[in-house]
Amino acid sequence: MIDLKKLEVWFITGSQHLYGEETLKKVSEHSKEIAKFFNTSKEISISIIFKPIVTTPEEILAVCKEVNASTNCIGIITWMHTFSPAKMWINGLKILQKPLLHLHTQFNRDIPWNDIDMDFMNLNQSAHGDREFGFIVSRLRMERKVVVGYWKDESTIKSIDVWSRAAAGWNDWQGAKFVRFGDNMRYVAVTDGDKVEAEYKFGFSVNTHGIGDLVKVIDAISDTKVDALIEEYESTYILTASLQKKGKQRESLKDAAKIELGLKAFLEDGNYKGFTDTFEDLYGMVQLPGIAAQRMMQAGYGFAGEGDWKTVALVRAMKIMGEGLKGGNSFMEDYTYHFEPKNEMVLGAHMLEICASIADGKPLCAIHPLGIGGKADPVRLIFNVAGGDALNASMIDMGNRFRLLVNEVEAIKPKHKLPKLPVARVLWKPKPDMKTGCAAWIYAGGAHHTCYSQNLTSEHLQDFAAMANIEFVLIDKNTNLYQLKNELRWNELAYRKS
Ligand code: MN
Repeated sequence: MIDLKKLEVWFITGSQHLYGEETLKKVSEHSKEIAKFFNTSKEISISIIFKPIVTTPEEILAVCKEVNASTNCIGIITWMHTFSPAKMWINGLKILQKPLLHLHTQFNRDIPWNDIDMDFMNLNQSAHGDREFGFIVSRLRMERKVVVGYWKDESTIKSIDVWSRAAAGWNDWQGAKFVRFGDNMRYVAVTDGDKVEAEYKFGFSVNTHGIGDLVKVIDAISDTKVDALIEEYESTYILTASLQKKGKQRESLKDAAKIELGLKAFLEDGNYKGFTDTFEDLYGMVQLPGIAAQRMMQAGYGFAGEGDWKTVALVRAMKIMGEGLKGGNSFMEDYTYHFEPKNEMVLGAHMLEICASIADGKPLCAIHPLGIGGKADPVRLIFNVAGGDALNASMIDMGNRFRLLVNEVEAIKPKHKLPKLPVARVLWKPKPDMKTGCAAWIYAGGAHHTCYSQNLTSEHLQDFAAMANIEFVLIDKNTNLYQLKNELRWNELAYRKS
């Protein structure tokens, strides 16, 4: 999907000329060593590039201009090995357009109790140097992530990777194009929103094509290509009898493959990173894209049903953020509940379109009637999803701002076969518990559509929201409704001016 190592985070160390050349030489050496350590760490997925230390307002402004102009640079890490008077940083930070991580570390882990002298004190000043830098970032009201800890500590490295992945997702949105086939599902509120504001705030554009434009591309797909894709289906999935060679619905499998190839061609040709469709507008299409949407998502495209372009974009960003991590990310919908006392849970699914990246085992490729939309039976992949930590994320438009809402959940290994349910499904228990989790979600206005993630944490999404400079609300093991309602009420004031 994307080679994260091609993306760069620049490591920029601040200092000043007060301490003499010898100290600056050491600052530079140490800084190089830290950047190299991060860059070669297997735990950090993005390249961390050392940049010459900065000691004057002119150098700081120049490097910030360079950051903005660089295509590969997706953000910067700053660190003040010594004191770096922060008025020097104002003009640089003022124009900085990329995410900022402020690393509050120290080159020496321990105080050398027997040898500590004033030279050591001159060099190892992060404890107060980083506070001076922190003040100016706060004074400029800039969003950033502050990571505290010794640079070789596992938790420090982990936080840098989380933030870097969020920055990769954010970078991917800049200039991204998403396409809608048809409009939103009629009358639905939460999936709609302000596309102009989204483009301004998030950097991606969403534009519509009539379904006929897509149908034209689908119709032009050759039989040879369709046959090749069907071979891939056969080797990747367990095909239900009626879809196998000489099966009575084999033609429907060909239709589904043709839809997938058409969609792929359309997206590649238009340089789109994701799409949405709606069962209400399928003129000229034989069936609703089921397996096509599932496989396109697995290939890295954003997708959501019913014209839900915000979730399309979120699914795409989360796929970029989770690149290379075990587990997957999928479009999801809270579908139905199990209210058994002390064992309450949610069954998540959609009509068809759950991404195969979260499948546990080999999916079954099957065909069943849809019940809505009045088209031919769509082909879909059916599978269960493993238990473990996961989350649901929802991007909503509150009218005066976007809110990214996250609920941490515990996915439950399915105990039942659900033989009559012909869709991919997930079971989870919302945190902190079913009643609080669901009530909190509803108070916060969370959508029924989400991106379900097995490999991202709420920290990834919190960092991502900070980069987008939007509201972030978390429902986790510590949530209580009294506090959450107050948080929402207070956020209403905090965002009133923006
Ligand atoms: Mn839906």
